[in-house]
Amino acid sequence: MATTPVTSPALAGVGRAISETGAWLGKTVLGAASRASQQEVFGLAASNTKILLGFILANLVLTVGLISAPVMAVVFGLGTALQAGVPITSVDRTGEAAALGPGLFLCPVQHPVVTQPFGPTTFVGEPIVNGVPFHTGIDLAVPLGQPIVAASSGTVTFAGGQTNAFGLLVGYGQYVTITDTQGRVELYGHMSRLLASVGQVVQAGQQIGQVGSTGFSSGPHVHFEVRVGGHPVNPAPNLRC
Ligand SMILES: [Zn+2]
Repeated sequence: MATTPVTSPALAGVGRAISETGAWLGKTVLGAASRASQQEVFGLAASNTKILLGFILANLVLTVGLISAPVMAVVFGLGTALQAGVPITSVDRTGEAAALGPGLFLCPVQHPVVTQPFGPTTFVGEPIVNGVPFHTGIDLAVPLGQPIVAASSGTVTFAGGQTNAFGLLVGYGQYVTITDTQGRVELYGHMSRLLASVGQVVQAGQQIGQVGSTGFSSGPHVHFEVRVGGHPVNPAPNLRC
């Protein structure tokens, strides 16, 4: 060791382990079979096992991290859904367009691309309904800052942000809910700017905000959600986009 320019004992150990591993591989390849070399191989193999255990441990830590991240995302999503009052134990009412009652919805944004429909989804982080991740609204993608208009006339019942304990926007991000004249609740999520306030009476077509990507969102869109009796229902059949 005196001639080796290694200052750290840990590095010296790594260097020794590497040279030992190399020696062990060399001996194994050469097929040394004497009793002495067997003992030596055993001794070196033991330190090789330590290295192997180290790699396994490192991989275990990485794997646990990779697995726990999506799990945390699901828990996170559930938490945010609960905060926003989404009844996660509600039954799947997909297709119950009749539950919407009379009337049509104006498209909240102009010329959108539907990036995610209402219903069961493979997206991690959505609330769980009937044991599966469930998208409780319809995602309408348009460029950032585009106007969002009320799909139906009613009264603004919420205008603000969904935040976590750290004050960071999560879930629906900045969103507005309107209780319409039919008693349904429409929710407009992920806004970049709120242009409505609680108690304000709005007409269908009136601007209530701007498209953003706040909260649980991967790009500019409005999450349009309709609830009847507290249950999210599919707005698509009545939506004029
Ligand atoms: Zn959505």
